[in-house]
Amino acid sequence: MRYNKIRKMDIADGPGIRVSIFMQGCTFNCKNCFNQETHDFSGGKEFTDDTIKEVLNLCDNDTIKGLSILGGEPLHPNNIEGTTKLAKEFKEKFPNKNLWMWTGFSFDKDLKDKEVLNYVDVLVDGQYKDELHDPKLKWKGSSNQRVIDVPKSLKEEKIIITE
Ligand code: SF4
Repeated sequence: MRYNKIRKMDIADGPGIRVSIFMQGCTFNCKNCFNQETHDFSGGKEFTDDTIKEVLNLCDNDTIKGLSILGGEPLHPNNIEGTTKLAKEFKEKFPNKNLWMWTGFSFDKDLKDKEVLNYVDVLVDGQYKDELHDPKLKWKGSSNQRVIDVPKSLKEEKIIITE
């Protein structure tokens, strides 16, 4: 598994000042994807336990409100194991910080039984659809995407939209 980049202070991908990591590799090929350099699974850098340590060290700071995991596709079968490990270790170490994740997969159709959801606070799901693009949307690129409160949705067994 590989990742594209880490941002030490990100104010665009989720609320507050955050650390973000962009995983490498995506097969969705959404028209006018904002992040085409993340599609090739052989691009970027190797994702290792040291990468997880680096991300957790960057989060270990009171000004950092949470971690954002984007891509690429963090939940592609090639990437989901490493993403789950990072998400689990983040929530164990920082139970009071939040974890946001962006995926082209669907919460209810593809992800409901995946372990990773136990560690995610907010999931922005669904492929980017260029014809539904609206620059006024918060946290998402197209109106079909959903900003989901994951703990509430799992508890109530239905999708609860937040923000
Ligand atoms: S899922 Fe995300 S990274 Fe993948 S092609 Fe679509 S917009 Fe780009």
